Amino acid sequence: MIDLTQHNTLGLPSQADTYVRAKDRLQLQAWLQRHQGYPLLVLGGGSNVVLPDYWPGVVIAPAMQGVQCLETRSEQVLIEVGAGEVWKDLVLYTLKQGWYGLENLADIPGWVGAAPIQNIGAYGVELSSVLHSVVAVSRKDSHEQVFSREQCRLGYRESIFKQEEAERWVIVAVRMLLRRQPLLHLDYGEIRQELLRQQVEHPDAWAVSQAVIALRRRKLPDPAVLGNAGSFFKNPWVDAMKASELRDHFSGLVAYPQAGGYKLAAGWLIDYVGLRGQGDQHVGCHVDQALVLVNRGGAKAADILAWARHVQARVQDVFGIMLEIEPRVYR
Ligand code: FAD
Ligand code: NAP
Repeated sequence: MIDLTQHNTLGLPSQADTYVRAKDRLQLQAWLQRHQGYPLLVLGGGSNVVLPDYWPGVVIAPAMQGVQCLETRSEQVLIEVGAGEVWKDLVLYTLKQGWYGLENLADIPGWVGAAPIQNIGAYGVELSSVLHSVVAVSRKDSHEQVFSREQCRLGYRESIFKQEEAERWVIVAVRMLLRRQPLLHLDYGEIRQELLRQQVEHPDAWAVSQAVIALRRRKLPDPAVLGNAGSFFKNPWVDAMKASELRDHFSGLVAYPQAGGYKLAAGWLIDYVGLRGQGDQHVGCHVDQALVLVNRGGAKAADILAWARHVQARVQDVFGIMLEIEPRVYR
């Protein structure tokens, strides 16, 4: 029996029959063949999952390493990165090479192989802006397939790997097209204010990554200190009529216009219903960002999910909106 407590950032106690790290594709294919018929859970850094107390099967970590430059073009480089590389290290590595595009995605926990699963995004940039393709191995018969960016059907914290093709593939490598000249995105959240605070007058991509890191570290709980899985709910989308109704009732409502409607800030909704910082000694909403559910000590999956249902019910009662859980919940 393997203890997975250290393998999930919520710090939930969880056990599995077996945990194996696949160092390369051949090893992965061998593990998949050997464990055909067993329940299989693919796990990277464990920063976007709610693990059960017991997983009656095998856990495979696709731990392939390496960053390879496949092609250099006049304005871009095409790189292929092993699924087991740590995302936040990759961001800094690419910037040091003079490859740009990942700076706003600095400091996101987890491994590279998981990045396409929910099309990770932060500070106005999503993986979709740089993704070229994904190399994956079939969990069923171990054949390898390349998914183009279009085939990945990336959306807001979404991809084909969370929908139609969920639990069918193990991503072994991610290919990205990065720019050789930076194109900075500074107009989101507090990036500009943070650069000013750091007295950076002429920011470059590295400075942007450092501003993002500083902002995140100020606001988000460090999973090593306080267990969490980042945002526990997705920001909900509503049509223009619903947004207008809500605005009439709730002054200060945070709503961003998007194609086809408005995106509401889920954290603001939870804050409004009075749950920021609330909970019990085991579980609750973080005091600085209500959207982050935290394990204050001794919580199990059932406690996290019970609190999540409470939050959903309160938001539904007040706003008529059902919040959708973002991390993958295994039962
Ligand atoms: P895991 O939690 O291990 O897995 C998540 C899901 O992906 C599981 O269903 C798993 O089966 C599947 N999976 C993982 N690897 C593979 C693979 N190689 N092949 C197939 N399936 C796979 N997310 C954002 O988008 N933006 C943020 O700004 C952000 N900030 C965060 C901040 C904190 C403090 C925390 C704790 C989380 C944050 N997250 C954020 C969520 C999380 O970091 C990302 O979703 C990350 O990509 C998850 O990577 P992981 O390796 O930990 O995935
Ligand atoms: P924030 O800056 O306080 O913003 C609150 C919310 O408003 C965010 O959810 C963000 O949506 C939205 N927002 C802010 N400025 C916007 C703009 N100009 N246009 C459209 N939407 C805007 O958020 P935060 O909690 O400190 O997080 C900062 C960034 O890190 C966000 O992008 C957030 O998604 C990301 N993050 C994600 C996770 C996760 O687990 N998924 C965890 C921590 C942080 P978006 O979320 O759509 O950006």
